[in-house]
Amino acid sequence: MNFKDNIRIIPDFPEPGIRFKDITTLLKDGAVFHQAIDALCAAYAEEQIDLVVGPEARGFAVGAPVAYRLGAGFVPVRKPGKLPAETLRYEYTLEYGKDALEIHRDAIIPGQRVLIVDDLLATGGTTEATIRMVEQLGGKVVGLAFLIELSYLNGRNRLKDYRIVSLAVY
Ligand code: IMP
Repeated sequence: MNFKDNIRIIPDFPEPGIRFKDITTLLKDGAVFHQAIDALCAAYAEEQIDLVVGPEARGFAVGAPVAYRLGAGFVPVRKPGKLPAETLRYEYTLEYGKDALEIHRDAIIPGQRVLIVDDLLATGGTTEATIRMVEQLGGKVVGLAFLIELSYLNGRNRLKDYRIVSLAVY
Protein backbone atom coordinates (compact mmCIF):
# COMPACT_ATOMS: atom_id res chain seq x y z
CA MET A 1 0.00 0.00 0.00
CA ASN A 2 1.35 3.43 -0.90
CA PHE A 3 0.29 5.62 2.00
CA LYS A 4 1.61 8.71 0.20
CA ASP A 5 -1.53 8.64 -1.95
CA ASN A 6 -3.48 9.56 1.19
CA ILE A 7 -1.15 12.21 2.59
CA ARG A 8 -1.97 15.72 1.42
CA ILE A 9 0.84 18.22 0.88
CA ILE A 10 0.08 21.84 1.74
CA PRO A 11 2.63 24.29 0.33
CA ASP A 12 3.77 27.22 2.48
CA PHE A 13 2.17 26.01 5.73
CA PRO A 14 2.67 27.05 8.51
CA GLU A 15 5.34 29.28 6.92
CA PRO A 16 6.52 30.11 3.41
CA GLY A 17 8.81 27.39 2.03
CA ILE A 18 7.46 24.53 4.17
CA ARG A 19 5.62 21.71 2.43
CA PHE A 20 3.40 20.50 5.26
CA LYS A 21 2.42 16.82 5.27
CA ASP A 22 -1.24 16.69 6.22
CA ILE A 23 -2.29 13.32 7.67
CA THR A 24 -5.95 14.28 8.22
CA THR A 25 -6.67 12.92 4.73
CA LEU A 26 -5.24 9.53 5.78
CA LEU A 27 -7.03 9.48 9.14
CA LYS A 28 -10.46 10.19 7.69
CA ASP A 29 -10.34 7.19 5.35
CA GLY A 30 -11.34 4.28 7.57
CA ALA A 31 -9.80 1.55 5.42
CA VAL A 32 -6.48 3.35 4.99
CA PHE A 33 -6.29 4.37 8.66
CA HIS A 34 -6.87 0.74 9.61
CA GLN A 35 -4.12 -0.49 7.27
CA ALA A 36 -1.66 2.11 8.52
CA ILE A 37 -2.21 1.21 12.18
CA ASP A 38 -1.99 -2.50 11.38
CA ALA A 39 1.26 -1.98 9.46
CA LEU A 40 2.89 -0.17 12.39
CA CYS A 41 1.67 -2.83 14.82
CA ALA A 42 2.87 -5.72 12.63
CA ALA A 43 6.43 -4.39 12.85
CA TYR A 44 6.38 -4.61 16.66
CA ALA A 45 3.98 -7.51 17.22
CA GLU A 46 6.71 -9.81 18.60
CA GLU A 47 8.24 -7.19 20.90
CA GLN A 48 5.90 -7.53 23.89
CA ILE A 49 5.27 -3.81 24.14
CA ASP A 50 3.91 -2.74 27.55
CA LEU A 51 3.39 0.95 26.76
CA VAL A 52 3.03 3.21 23.76
CA VAL A 53 4.21 6.76 24.44
CA GLY A 54 2.91 9.46 22.08
CA PRO A 55 3.62 13.22 21.94
CA GLU A 56 0.70 15.60 21.49
CA ALA A 57 -1.31 16.03 19.45
CA ARG A 58 -0.97 13.88 16.35
CA GLY A 59 1.00 11.32 18.37
CA PHE A 60 -2.27 10.67 20.24
CA ALA A 61 -4.24 10.01 17.04
CA VAL A 62 -1.68 7.45 15.86
CA GLY A 63 -0.31 6.16 19.16
CA ALA A 64 -3.56 5.34 20.94
CA PRO A 65 -4.88 2.95 18.26
CA VAL A 66 -1.45 1.30 18.05
CA ALA A 67 -1.51 0.77 21.82
CA TYR A 68 -5.03 -0.66 21.69
CA ARG A 69 -4.14 -3.06 18.87
CA LEU A 70 -0.98 -4.25 20.67
CA GLY A 71 -2.82 -4.67 23.97
CA ALA A 72 -0.49 -2.08 25.51
CA GLY A 73 -1.17 0.99 27.65
CA PHE A 74 -0.95 4.53 26.28
CA VAL A 75 1.03 7.36 27.89
CA PRO A 76 0.73 10.96 26.65
CA VAL A 77 3.64 13.38 26.35
CA ARG A 78 2.45 16.99 26.40
CA LYS A 79 3.48 20.61 26.21
CA PRO A 80 4.18 22.16 29.67
CA GLY A 81 1.26 22.82 31.98
CA LYS A 82 -1.20 20.38 30.41
CA LEU A 83 -0.69 17.24 32.51
CA PRO A 84 -2.44 17.37 35.90
CA ALA A 85 -0.21 15.23 38.16
CA GLU A 86 3.49 15.51 38.99
CA THR A 87 5.57 15.70 35.82
CA LEU A 88 9.09 15.25 34.54
CA ARG A 89 10.03 18.07 32.14
CA TYR A 90 12.58 17.95 29.35
CA GLU A 91 13.77 21.17 27.74
CA TYR A 92 15.41 21.11 24.34
CA THR A 93 16.82 23.59 21.88
CA LEU A 94 15.17 24.35 18.56
CA GLU A 95 16.65 26.18 15.58
CA TYR A 96 15.19 29.36 17.06
CA GLY A 97 14.60 29.26 20.81
CA LYS A 98 13.60 26.49 23.20
CA ASP A 99 10.78 24.06 23.72
CA ALA A 100 9.78 21.65 26.45
CA LEU A 101 7.76 18.49 26.90
CA GLU A 102 6.37 16.78 29.98
CA ILE A 103 5.36 13.28 31.06
CA HIS A 104 3.75 12.11 34.29
CA ARG A 105 6.44 10.87 36.70
CA ASP A 106 4.43 7.77 37.58
CA ALA A 107 3.58 6.89 33.97
CA ILE A 108 6.24 4.19 33.58
CA ILE A 109 7.28 1.30 35.81
CA PRO A 110 11.05 0.74 35.49
CA GLY A 111 11.74 -2.06 33.03
CA GLN A 112 8.55 -1.61 31.01
CA ARG A 113 8.99 -2.05 27.25
CA VAL A 114 8.07 1.13 25.41
CA LEU A 115 7.22 1.93 21.80
CA ILE A 116 7.30 5.64 20.91
CA VAL A 117 4.78 6.62 18.22
CA ASP A 118 4.28 9.93 16.41
CA ASP A 119 2.81 11.01 13.10
CA LEU A 120 6.04 12.31 11.61
CA LEU A 121 9.82 12.12 12.07
CA ALA A 122 11.52 15.35 10.98
CA THR A 123 14.75 16.39 12.77
CA GLY A 124 14.11 13.87 15.55
CA GLY A 125 14.11 16.53 18.28
CA THR A 126 10.64 15.65 19.57
CA THR A 127 11.43 11.95 19.56
CA GLU A 128 14.82 12.41 21.21
CA ALA A 129 13.21 14.44 24.01
CA THR A 130 10.61 11.71 24.44
CA ILE A 131 13.27 8.97 24.55
CA ARG A 132 15.23 10.85 27.22
CA MET A 133 12.15 11.17 29.43
CA VAL A 134 11.14 7.51 29.02
CA GLU A 135 14.66 6.35 29.84
CA GLN A 136 14.94 8.70 32.82
CA LEU A 137 11.81 7.05 34.22
CA GLY A 138 13.37 3.60 33.72
CA GLY A 139 11.50 2.53 30.59
CA LYS A 140 13.20 0.49 27.88
CA VAL A 141 12.69 2.05 24.44
CA VAL A 142 12.18 -0.94 22.15
CA GLY A 143 11.50 1.08 19.01
CA LEU A 144 10.03 4.09 17.24
CA ALA A 145 7.13 4.18 14.78
CA PHE A 146 5.93 6.95 12.45
CA LEU A 147 3.49 7.36 9.61
CA ILE A 148 5.91 9.71 7.83
CA GLU A 149 9.67 10.22 7.78
CA LEU A 150 11.30 13.29 6.22
CA SER A 151 14.60 11.57 5.41
CA TYR A 152 16.32 14.77 4.18
CA LEU A 153 16.22 16.12 7.77
CA ASN A 154 18.33 13.17 9.00
CA GLY A 155 16.31 12.33 12.11
CA ARG A 156 17.52 8.75 11.66
CA ASN A 157 21.15 9.73 12.32
CA ARG A 158 20.21 11.39 15.57
CA LEU A 159 18.26 8.29 16.65
CA LYS A 160 20.67 5.68 15.30
CA ASP A 161 20.65 3.51 18.43
CA TYR A 162 16.96 2.76 17.98
CA ARG A 163 14.87 0.74 15.55
CA ILE A 164 12.75 3.02 13.35
CA VAL A 165 9.70 2.01 11.33
CA SER A 166 8.02 4.55 9.02
CA LEU A 167 5.34 4.01 6.39
CA ALA A 168 5.92 6.89 3.97
CA VAL A 169 9.42 8.31 3.40
CA TYR A 170 10.01 11.65 1.64
P1 IMP B 1 10.99 16.91 14.80
O1 IMP B 1 11.00 17.12 16.28
O2 IMP B 1 11.82 17.91 14.07
O3 IMP B 1 11.31 15.49 14.40
O4 IMP B 1 9.51 17.22 14.31
C1 IMP B 1 8.51 16.28 14.46
C2 IMP B 1 7.28 16.92 15.00
O5 IMP B 1 6.90 18.05 14.21
C3 IMP B 1 6.14 15.93 15.00
O6 IMP B 1 5.54 15.91 16.28
C4 IMP B 1 5.20 16.42 13.93
O7 IMP B 1 3.87 16.37 14.35
C5 IMP B 1 5.62 17.86 13.64
N1 IMP B 1 5.76 18.12 12.19
C6 IMP B 1 6.83 18.61 11.55
N2 IMP B 1 6.61 18.74 10.22
C7 IMP B 1 5.36 18.30 10.01
C8 IMP B 1 4.55 18.15 8.83
O8 IMP B 1 4.93 18.42 7.66
N3 IMP B 1 3.31 17.62 9.03
C9 IMP B 1 2.86 17.28 10.25
N4 IMP B 1 3.58 17.43 11.36
C10 IMP B 1 4.82 17.92 11.26
